Amino acid sequence: MDQEILRKNIVALDAYTPGLSIDEIRQKYNCASIIKMASNENPLGVPPLAAEAIRRHAEEAFRYPRGGNPRLVKALARHHDVPENTIICGNGSDEIIDLLIRMLCEPREHAIVCFNPCFSLYPIQARISDIAVESTPLRDDFSFDFDALLGKVDARSRLVFLTTPDNPSGYCPPLSDVRAFAETLLERFPRCLLVIDEAYVDFCEHEEEHSLLRAKAMLPNTVCMRTFSKSFGLAGLRLGYAVVPEILADAYWRARLPFSVNLLAEEAGLAALADHAFRDETLRVVKEGRKTISENLTRMGCTVMPSEANFLLFSLPSGHDVNECFTTLLSKGIIIRTLKGYNLPNHLRVSVGNEAENKAFLAAMDDYLR
Ligand SMILES: *Cc1c(COP(=O)(O)O)cnc(C)c1O
Repeated sequence: MDQEILRKNIVALDAYTPGLSIDEIRQKYNCASIIKMASNENPLGVPPLAAEAIRRHAEEAFRYPRGGNPRLVKALARHHDVPENTIICGNGSDEIIDLLIRMLCEPREHAIVCFNPCFSLYPIQARISDIAVESTPLRDDFSFDFDALLGKVDARSRLVFLTTPDNPSGYCPPLSDVRAFAETLLERFPRCLLVIDEAYVDFCEHEEEHSLLRAKAMLPNTVCMRTFSKSFGLAGLRLGYAVVPEILADAYWRARLPFSVNLLAEEAGLAALADHAFRDETLRVVKEGRKTISENLTRMGCTVMPSEANFLLFSLPSGHDVNECFTTLLSKGIIIRTLKGYNLPNHLRVSVGNEAENKAFLAAMDDYLR
């Protein structure tokens, strides 16, 4: 057997590169305690009510879940005050991204449009299906040039992807800019949907000024994606959802693998939605930690991008090497993220941790930069 047996898109594919896992680093560096600040996970762990729900339902895991996740859909519709027939759920936002592309784009005919750099899953899932990717660069300060983005849209485009706040920069455009872009798109390219990935939007200082969903400013051509992986603390269970035009929701439930959201993920998601104390504390810890890390890295001479998310993008003072910094931190058991995959070889990204983790990270950075 050789590579000839594979489709040519698969041979040419660069896989998504996840942040290093705790096990990998524990083995390699033989560290007792590992601090992971690489994948923007929740610094407080799993919501207590969700952990309890997982334990309570463990004995039911031999059953198939109910098809279509109706209880979760109902709870999410209530949470966002939108009709139930506009909610879709998936095995992480990742599954929703993949299915949106496959439901709307004909291979070798249609295209998706995004900024460069962007969340790498958008182009990866498009390329698997032989769908073209058109992109325009972010500005030097990582802000969005919407005119340039619109310039990449044409009659072949079926999806435009925006991440607000953006990963890896933390930049978040004003709602009015996003809304104006959606209106122009609807007028000029009515067959092209705007997908707004709001994975981090609840970490914004003022969510209502940045979320189309929260502001009830959705248009007939907009999709808003959310996830349970970040502020809801359930990344390992894989649960995401989106609010979409009705016709798309109907198609999604027909096209999705029947049981991709598993029984424990659904129960945990329902419980996480109800755990208000956990979420309030998460948002408080992240906003405070973001400020502390940003102020201290700046004091050490780093250039830190303003961020509305639960991570910070920064570059080192001149004379310091990103990879050396990354491996020095690794040797102390602290995992952050290099950004070669995003074409940002001179930047690092750190996820906001809890108070003790932030302190350890800042001490290690101070040591390294001295
Ligand atoms: C973390 C993240 C998500 C969430 O993905 P899941 O599959 O729900 O874990 C979505 N979009 C972006 C840009 C992210 O960084």
